[in-house]
Amino acid sequence: RLQQRIHGTTLEINLNALTHNYNFYKSKILPHTKIMVMVKAFAYGGGAAEIANHLQQMGADYLAVAYTDEGVALREAGIKLPIMVLNPVQESFIHLQQFHLEPVVYGLDFFKQLGKYCRHQGTDMHIHLDFDTGMHRLGFEMEHLQDLKTLIIDFPELRIASMYTHLVGADEEAHHDFSIRQLEDFLKMCSTLESALSYRPLRHALNSAGIVRYPEYQMDMVRLGIGLYGVEVSGLYEGHLKPISSLKTTVSQVKHLKAGETIGYSRKGKMDQDGQIATIAIGYADGYDRRFSNGRGFVLIHGHRAPVIGNVCMDMTMLDVTGLEVREGDEVLIYGPGISLKELAERIGTIPYELLTNISSRVKRVYY
Ligand code: PLP
Repeated sequence: RLQQRIHGTTLEINLNALTHNYNFYKSKILPHTKIMVMVKAFAYGGGAAEIANHLQQMGADYLAVAYTDEGVALREAGIKLPIMVLNPVQESFIHLQQFHLEPVVYGLDFFKQLGKYCRHQGTDMHIHLDFDTGMHRLGFEMEHLQDLKTLIIDFPELRIASMYTHLVGADEEAHHDFSIRQLEDFLKMCSTLESALSYRPLRHALNSAGIVRYPEYQMDMVRLGIGLYGVEVSGLYEGHLKPISSLKTTVSQVKHLKAGETIGYSRKGKMDQDGQIATIAIGYADGYDRRFSNGRGFVLIHGHRAPVIGNVCMDMTMLDVTGLEVREGDEVLIYGPGISLKELAERIGTIPYELLTNISSRVKRVYY
């Protein structure tokens, strides 16, 4: 409550809900299958260090971040789990080495440069290989594997901890055949490469939706992301996950307006009858998307839905609260139990991932 008085908006993170969601996914895989948790992008907005610490205590096997500095921040926060870095750059070799981070290697040139670096430093490094089976974002393709094998033999300093691919549409039944093709192609690529190795790296392919849709392809590890944060994207287990975050703000002022009066920038909001509006302490600078303007967004006040009226401002937003009992200082739920992120995302033509990761750093995270 103190933080809410200072800034007005807080993101409350329920760590018990996180444990519940983790255990849900754990119950869907075999006991020996490892779990890598995606804590990139500030743990999908929830706060990487706190969430990683909780996961470490729960016995997660691996963490993954997008960039090296995200991994460094976790090490500086005392996280000991192995950390995979999805998108490292050559300038960060020294940080990868110093902080025991495990880079993904997705190209031949990068492999060679990293191998030379490790040889020069007299060190070994655990790395992960990304195989492109259809995402066409990053990764080795089948035609690169012969050259990759040669490099693997030339640079034993680089130890292949795992090989993985990423599904493009695990959450959509329409892409079922494509997903299966990706998974089968991945297995072929793994076998091809393993003939150059005297050991067997971990194999992994499934994200949250994949874990529940394709458990027969769980292999050695799964990569859990959005599901841990309480959003069920496969459509198969609606209601089985608990939302972990509640974004809350407060009412700054209530105003009584006459029919025809306009609200906010560009006069975009208009009262169609005499009524009242409430101004709340959240705006697009907090990550409350401006596309929620003019009735596209709504919030919950005392359990009642109130639509946004006018344009969302940088630090504030106005609501039509005509007919509701609302006072200054009242709590307002932007999302959380009672307002689904999926519904909100659909209203502005985006996905829950974007809403979660957009909450800005000035919004204080509170854990309970
Ligand atoms: N694996 C990779 C390579 C990813 O980029 C992501 C997320 O973007 C995930 C796994 C986790 O996906 P999800 O959040 O859908 O579980």
